Amino acid sequence: MTFAELGLAEPLVRAVREQGYETPTPIQRQAIPAVLAGGDLLAGARTGTGKTAGFTLPLLHRLAAEKPVRDAKGRVAIRALILTPTRELAAQVEESVRTYGKYLPLKSMVMFGGVGMQPQIDALRRGVDILVATPGRLLDHHQQGTLDMRHVQYFVLDEADRMLDMGFIHDIRKILAIVPPHKQSLLFSATFSDEIKALAERLLNKPQVIEV
Ligand code: AMP
Repeated sequence: MTFAELGLAEPLVRAVREQGYETPTPIQRQAIPAVLAGGDLLAGARTGTGKTAGFTLPLLHRLAAEKPVRDAKGRVAIRALILTPTRELAAQVEESVRTYGKYLPLKSMVMFGGVGMQPQIDALRRGVDILVATPGRLLDHHQQGTLDMRHVQYFVLDEADRMLDMGFIHDIRKILAIVPPHKQSLLFSATFSDEIKALAERLLNKPQVIEV
């Protein structure tokens, strides 16, 4: 099994090859075709399984296959929103998006708290296709009117169990009320408590369930 056989476009296959990945990991073999097919996904996978490439590669494929969306001011609008529990993970995920997407004309950005708002506002103004963010800062921008989530078509909750452990459930609920109801949603979690199941129930529509 190769990345090309999973249906990924050549620019992605090339980027992955340059990373030295020879074969997809088990989570990638399952998640990539599922996300390419357009359905929702509930995935049980911990760090180290290759889960990040499992969702970023097919999202990049789909985003590149579709036209960029522009907002009322003509700026490239956010089509994919990836939420992570920590700054470190947000930075890591966005780095993966950049690495795998290096041969595609897509713009990504990472956003988290503890740093100034203004550079983030400036970056948003330049246009962003893929935003990787922690929940608190995302809501800060929304409340200030500096972030438009109306064009989000792809939504990822990464390490959802850690997000709940860190007390982000209220923020996540607020964000779910802001993003459009019709979107492709993916939830990744290492564990499945009743709280995660309830969140999955609320967020996901007939998800494919994969566990590795
Ligand atoms: P993750 O579970 O997403 O945090 O990824 C764990 C590590 O595995 C990262 O350092 C990736 O660069 C690496 N990795 C992801 N997919 C593959 C693959 N198919 N082959 C080899 N290494 C990979």
